[in-house]
Amino acid sequence: MDKEQQERYRRQTAFPQIGIAGQEKLLASKAAILGVGALGSIVAERLARAGIGYLRLVDRDYVDLANLHRQTLYTETDADSQLPKAVAAAAHISAINSSVSVEPIVADISARNIETLIDGMDIVLDGSDNFELRALVGEACHKHSIPWVYGGAIGASGASMNILPSAGPCFRCIIPQIPEAGSYPTCATEGIIGMAASVVASIQSAEAIKLLIGSGDASRQYISIDLWNNAFDLVSIEKDPDCPVCGRHEYLMLEAGEPDGRVDPLCATGSYQVTPSSQVEIDIAAFADRLSAIGFVAHNPYLLRFDSGDISFNLFKDGRAVIRNARDEGEARTVYSEFIGL
Ligand SMILES: [Zn+2]
Repeated sequence: MDKEQQERYRRQTAFPQIGIAGQEKLLASKAAILGVGALGSIVAERLARAGIGYLRLVDRDYVDLANLHRQTLYTETDADSQLPKAVAAAAHISAINSSVSVEPIVADISARNIETLIDGMDIVLDGSDNFELRALVGEACHKHSIPWVYGGAIGASGASMNILPSAGPCFRCIIPQIPEAGSYPTCATEGIIGMAASVVASIQSAEAIKLLIGSGDASRQYISIDLWNNAFDLVSIEKDPDCPVCGRHEYLMLEAGEPDGRVDPLCATGSYQVTPSSQVEIDIAAFADRLSAIGFVAHNPYLLRFDSGDISFNLFKDGRAVIRNARDEGEARTVYSEFIGL
């Protein structure tokens, strides 16, 4: 460590369980944070301040006013400019700790790209908002022997667990049947208090640091919290010997790949994400110019927003669109083909 690093991390290296040796390991570590929303944005900030060497931030979404009560890394300026979360997070992190290498990636995480997104990482942190994605991450991390830290928060509650490829249980052991999107409560339907996200993200960050420095104190249990009822629990979960992932090494979600032209319901009611069937790169400025003849358009280098009567959507550079106010998937698909037509 150079003099500036010694000074910057002085209070952290004074904590004997980390010390100088632990700090040096953190400075040489690489982490991917999959989703930089409620949990991931806080994890990103905590790890950057702690001196992690390299952060890969992946997120498909943009900053919205309704994020600010819990996503402490973002500001009103980010929401006004509809900056992608990965881009806004990278900018704030560089301002907080310029020695951290940050790689922002604006993308939807799927079977198509997950293995590339975790490639070369020492650890993966879960910042996602759905079980299907976590199951996919679980398969990819097990296949590539990368530890990952599960996290989830809703209402005033949350949970975290370290998923270690060398020792069970894995995510599939904990949740054998992956619930379908729309069949379980979400932050949009149940609400969430920001403090629950902060506590879970802090647990994830502390566990990540323990795992990265090779501390034997990393948790082997499922940690759950409920801030409204002041309940803090540790639950031991057994490895399922018949588990398809850690037992039989079957990576069915990874191998299934990604269906063409997906339409996914999002957390916000009436919002659907439409993914084009092939990989494209859109000229946002040219598209904005074309759409401005038929409605209101605002754009930045990463995405545009279009509004005209009941039709409202955001279109990203990679051809994905978030269609709002749609009655169902079919209507979302129709709006996409009429106005975007890729
Ligand atoms: Zn398992």
